[in-house]
Amino acid sequence: MPELPEVEVTRQGIAGPLLGARVRALRLGKPLRWPLGIEPGAIAGARIGSVTRRGKYLWLPLQGGPQGQGGLLLHLGMSGSLGWLAGAAPPAGPHDHFDLETDRGTLRLNDPRRFGAAVWAAATDAPPAAALLARLGAEPFDAAFGPLQFHAALQQRRAPIKAVLLAGEVVVGAGNIYACEALFAAAIHPATRADRISRPRAERLLAALRSTLGRALALGGSTLRDFTDVHGASGAYQAEAQVYGREGQPCRRCGATVRRRVQAQRSTYFCPACQHR
Ligand code: ZN
Repeated sequence: MPELPEVEVTRQGIAGPLLGARVRALRLGKPLRWPLGIEPGAIAGARIGSVTRRGKYLWLPLQGGPQGQGGLLLHLGMSGSLGWLAGAAPPAGPHDHFDLETDRGTLRLNDPRRFGAAVWAAATDAPPAAALLARLGAEPFDAAFGPLQFHAALQQRRAPIKAVLLAGEVVVGAGNIYACEALFAAAIHPATRADRISRPRAERLLAALRSTLGRALALGGSTLRDFTDVHGASGAYQAEAQVYGREGQPCRRCGATVRRRVQAQRSTYFCPACQHR
């Protein structure tokens, strides 16, 4: 599943070509997770502004066109990837369900499982975007979100820290692979109750999450299933994973056997010797 680093890699890949491009047409394939909310023709002629990201959502601001000011909120779902096709695009394939044709090229969403979405909103704080973005936790690299805020938010939660990270209501970005890796880097057992994590450990965990996500970004994300960036390249992060996907193999730090357990229906990988409650 595309996680925050992959979505940010995507944003960086499409923001340049889309900035200032003019929409010629929007073509939709099979239904995605939510309906677009407007007629596709209502954004023809609109000019695209600077693409931003919040959590795993991308926002493409649009100005002009019959629909007026607003934008498209995009989500890659479980299996989506956005490709940028400069010039004339080849015909859409069976899994291409969203083609935003501009005067510079086509932004194409390929999404075999169709949990991805593209919805129109007048603004990010207007429906339906507002409701989708409302429950998101802090951005991990937001300078205003520090160890104090992180620790205070963890104090309010009794669930296991792994589940709290995955829920994304305290801080976004810690999808399964990055949550496992950050907890390993911070030497925290994934079943530890969030409200039992001391301030120094919370500080270590936030730093670990930032370095894990930063490293994934630098490497172009992870390719756990079929994520590729907008030019079709695969991410290299997963080759560096310390515990994720390494059940039964020796811990790279201490040599103990990496274990897997299921938490909240997701596989958690951890080293029982390095990570403490
Ligand atoms: Zn270990």
